[in-house]
Amino acid sequence: ATPTAIMVATGRGAAMGILFRRGAALETLAQIDILVLDKTGTLTEGRPTLTELSAHGMSESEALALAAAVERHSEHPIASAIVAATHTRGLVLEEAEAIEALPGFGIQARVGVQAVAVGARRLMERLAVPMDAAAEIAERLASDGMTPIYVAADGRLIAVLAVTDPLKPNSREAIARLRGLGVEVAMVTGDGQRTAEAVARQLGIARVMAEVLPADKAAEVRRLQGEGGRVAFVGDGINDAPALAQADVGIAIGTGTDIAVEAGEVILMQGDLMAAVDALILARRTLRTIR
Ligand code: ADP
Ligand code: MG
Repeated sequence: ATPTAIMVATGRGAAMGILFRRGAALETLAQIDILVLDKTGTLTEGRPTLTELSAHGMSESEALALAAAVERHSEHPIASAIVAATHTRGLVLEEAEAIEALPGFGIQARVGVQAVAVGARRLMERLAVPMDAAAEIAERLASDGMTPIYVAADGRLIAVLAVTDPLKPNSREAIARLRGLGVEVAMVTGDGQRTAEAVARQLGIARVMAEVLPADKAAEVRRLQGEGGRVAFVGDGINDAPALAQADVGIAIGTGTDIAVEAGEVILMQGDLMAAVDALILARRTLRTIR
């Protein structure tokens, strides 16, 4: 495309809330083969709420209060969901000490005399917490697209919670449009396999990369690039910055974290994925790459 065409397209994009940091991003975007989307905060609202709670060997309130005493020290959206649920129930939280955040796993701390851990199944496996009672419940929650969160005290499972993060209203339609434009769509998440598959099914996404640790999202992008395709990545979180940088085109959600926005070459100001569709169409028209 001529510099003038790029300039015109950049201006059009800006008017639609799509910022192209560099003209070259338009050219690469026109030619991408795969678009990889982060799940939480990109396809979903990123504001989960507590939707299920089952306690073992103590009351639901006690178990929830213990979990929240620990999660109060985490900035993860799942933590906010758990703490918010104690507010609506009027629970009083104890102090926690020796707090240890385990990115991609969960968090643990001491509450009174108890060692409390809250997180994914793999955290419980790491701590060798027996899970027999919870397996069936968790399975059901995950197949409904909820994220099961396990709570253990002194090595014993005391509760299974579930948080649900609603899909953004336009995610499904945006995916259908992207596929209609001949782009392969994939989803990446730190969430469990079964939850990820349930969410992907609701969205019409066939390719899912689940249980990806925060540090490994960029490696997943590199792996796809190794298969020969040009890869665009769409993300919003601190975790997503390396993947945004690794991708042939990094597309950041403008309502996401500053670090992601800085790492993106294209910024979708409104956080609506239909803008990714508009960006692709604009790029292809500008480059006259019809396919
Ligand atoms: P994502 O951004 O996709 O949620 P993360 O890597 O942040 O991915 O988290 C992966 C999984 O680890 C979560 O789905 C959850 O099961 C668990 N996890 C991480 N942090 C926390 C936390 N503070 N509390 C509970 N679970 C957590
Ligand atoms: Mg995210």
